[in-house]
Amino acid sequence: MATKLIFFLCVAGFMIGCGPNLPTEADWHSFDGKRAFNHVQALVNMGPRPAGSPALTKACSYIASQLEEAGLETQEQVFMANTPRGPLQFRNVIGKTPRSNGAPGPIIILASHYDTKYLPDIHFVGANDGGSSSGALLELARCAAMMPNVWFVFFDGEEAIREYSSDDGLVGSKFFVEQLKANNQVDSIKAVILLDMVGDANLNVSLPANSTGKLVEELFAAARDVGGRDYFKLSKNEILDDHVPFLNAGIPAVDIIDFEYGSALGQNDYWHTDKDTMDKLSPRSLEIIGQTTLRLLARLYANRLK
Ligand SMILES: [Zn+2]
Repeated sequence: MATKLIFFLCVAGFMIGCGPNLPTEADWHSFDGKRAFNHVQALVNMGPRPAGSPALTKACSYIASQLEEAGLETQEQVFMANTPRGPLQFRNVIGKTPRSNGAPGPIIILASHYDTKYLPDIHFVGANDGGSSSGALLELARCAAMMPNVWFVFFDGEEAIREYSSDDGLVGSKFFVEQLKANNQVDSIKAVILLDMVGDANLNVSLPANSTGKLVEELFAAARDVGGRDYFKLSKNEILDDHVPFLNAGIPAVDIIDFEYGSALGQNDYWHTDKDTMDKLSPRSLEIIGQTTLRLLARLYANRLK
């Protein structure tokens, strides 16, 4: 009887399109800081990468080819938007892992912006601001390629051309969330984990106060699991970043950002300057961030994404 029942369940599962059971965990040790660092170097070698530039298009192709190499289903969202510099073309890049059992399920988004701020008077390559989180996200995509229902999203147009307003800054993430709404997918997104400025050799992550409390708790626990708890704290300040359009849509989100990027403790004088270069970053910092994020993913799955 038991054998027949198992056979029946397998056939039923096959008939409703059930696929292989995917692992819900990737060993956090598999995240390699040097690999992430090499991705950052490749992006920085393209020079300044502001929205609408040829270098941005080149960065987009690089990211898409790396996601494909990791075996992910890869899409580009290409769209026009008005900006203080006139209409510009924007490009989000999205890599998706396989669906669990071939069926729609709760989705976790890991995200970064890959554009650099338009600063025509200086040679701004954005090693940390735009580069570091994108390099880390590509390595995360390699490590977590077989975890079900994870989307890796690379936003264009995070940086404001002048200052943040309804038509300046967060252009890619706002468009992405509008698409989620249009496709009735908002309820499927269980968590957004945003990375930004995560490569500083002197790593000191301050999670902005406008992060979802439950995700902050899980992130602290994940950091403790991998031995990196001392690198993370909760800030009293809010930050306007790509996680905000998700929060506004009711989607839980956390922003992993180190906003002390400068020549001395508490300073931020490398930010948005020509001093934001590779020599300020370390593979070890990227590794702490990447391993903590992989562990966080596993914890979210273990908690059934509640
Ligand atoms: Zn910036």
